Amino acid sequence: MKYNHKNVEPKWQKIWEDKGVFHAENDTSKEKFYALIEFPYPSGQGLHVGHPRPYTALDTVARKRRLQGYNVLYPIGWDAFGLPTENYAIKNHIHPEIVTKQNIARFKKQIQSLGISFDWSREVNTTDPEYYKWTQWIFLQLFKKGLAYKKEMNVNWCTSCKCVLANEEVVNGNCERCGSEVIRKVKSQWMLKITEYADRLINDLDLVDYPARVKAQQINWIGRSTGAEVDFTATTGDTLTVYTTRCDTLFGATYMVISPEHPLIEKWADKLNNIDEIRAYQLEASKKSDFERTEVAKEKTGVRLDGVEAVNPVNNKKIPIFVSDYVLVSYGTGAIMAVPAHDTRDWEFAKKFDLPIIEVVKGGENVQEEAFTDCATGVLTNSGFIDGLSVEDAKEKMIKWLEENKLGRAKVNYKLRDWVFSRQRYWGEPIPIVYCEKCGYVPIDESELPLKLPMVDSYEPTDTGESPLAKMTDWINTTCPCCGGKALRETDTMPQWAGSSWYFLRYMDPHNSEALASKEALEYWSPVDWYNGGLVLT
Ligand SMILES: [Zn+2]
Ligand SMILES: [Zn+2]
Repeated sequence: MKYNHKNVEPKWQKIWEDKGVFHAENDTSKEKFYALIEFPYPSGQGLHVGHPRPYTALDTVARKRRLQGYNVLYPIGWDAFGLPTENYAIKNHIHPEIVTKQNIARFKKQIQSLGISFDWSREVNTTDPEYYKWTQWIFLQLFKKGLAYKKEMNVNWCTSCKCVLANEEVVNGNCERCGSEVIRKVKSQWMLKITEYADRLINDLDLVDYPARVKAQQINWIGRSTGAEVDFTATTGDTLTVYTTRCDTLFGATYMVISPEHPLIEKWADKLNNIDEIRAYQLEASKKSDFERTEVAKEKTGVRLDGVEAVNPVNNKKIPIFVSDYVLVSYGTGAIMAVPAHDTRDWEFAKKFDLPIIEVVKGGENVQEEAFTDCATGVLTNSGFIDGLSVEDAKEKMIKWLEENKLGRAKVNYKLRDWVFSRQRYWGEPIPIVYCEKCGYVPIDESELPLKLPMVDSYEPTDTGESPLAKMTDWINTTCPCCGGKALRETDTMPQWAGSSWYFLRYMDPHNSEALASKEALEYWSPVDWYNGGLVLT
């Protein structure tokens, strides 16, 4: 007899589901096995081959573990908030909630027809108020602990999505979603203080068996370095502090560079003879993403400040200050000292602008011809009181000298920035905070969660950069939980990552209405035994 999948497969799939064959029980007497896939984003296109590939691989593992007697948790859910659905909804004039329902139904049907042994009784959906109640609850805990805060800052702004993007969402200066130009804009944003965990995010990698490449990526992304802050003085009397991992090379610092956004530029405006040229340069820089600006291969550009100079604290020599876009205001102090003899980027810049190049670590052929960058070890030269010392000893002596003379201090620095955690869009979790003129930002009471996303007629992003929720006066006007006076609701929503950062915890106890999951369930199912997702390893 010919195998007819249309007769056989739906029959057995129904029996499996009716009997709950793949349902995991929170039965702590049994040995557990938790298999986790990266949950899908239900798009309008339906499944592509990248979906069933990891699901099928882990399905075989899950089935084997069940046969071996394990209590297997192999759940699925939907990462359904965010831009793709919202953009589709706007284009086709269908409410994102309806689009999401349709997309999920399609994905579910397709996945079920593949017969993958997911536990459908634990299905979660990040856009379900019963789910995002807990996403909002987590946000409130972060706020109460000072780990969520609001700040004016420079952000990546997609000119077409009219939305703030994380650095990871900007590719070659363009929006990862829509390909449009990304510019820099100053906005008031909710931030998560991930930098508080920078050390743990490095040190605790020892406790997990991630692939070496993933660990290396994380360490590079966090970018911890040990160095010093050095205070240069400008001829105006202002202090320009720089962070450097190579304070031993201070005698070779022949110019400084500040970022186009550096606040001292405005302060010095009437002292700068070429302020118009500088302003034009600032405008150009505002159109580039951080990644684009710091690309090593890119042609160096900059403008020399005409009217203000800096003084190198180790030898009191006057050195020029440039504004250049390869220095970011968000990294370190927004100002750097340049040592062209030992840094390729500084060297190229010095050649272009005809600046002195002074060798301070011996070993290069001729630093006028090429930067000598292999200088992590070596002996100092042309360096006054640290002449003849090894690099290591020179660093130590320099930090001591800086501290004694109150010109600097030892300092650990990170490339990691705090996380921009608000979006001026409709299709996301409302941030459960109100603003009161008397009390400032106040969390809403936990008993009021979930704070539901109101139905709106227009969910298009606004040209002013405000969330579409800002137009909903009924919803916005509320009372302050603290003083009972008038207050306004926060109109920004959370990024898609909010719901997808903790879904693996909800699977452990998905119907709990008292907590995001019970303590017993968390203790029983943790940790995930096998995760299939993230970086593709070849
Ligand atoms: Zn875009
Ligand atoms: Zn108040």
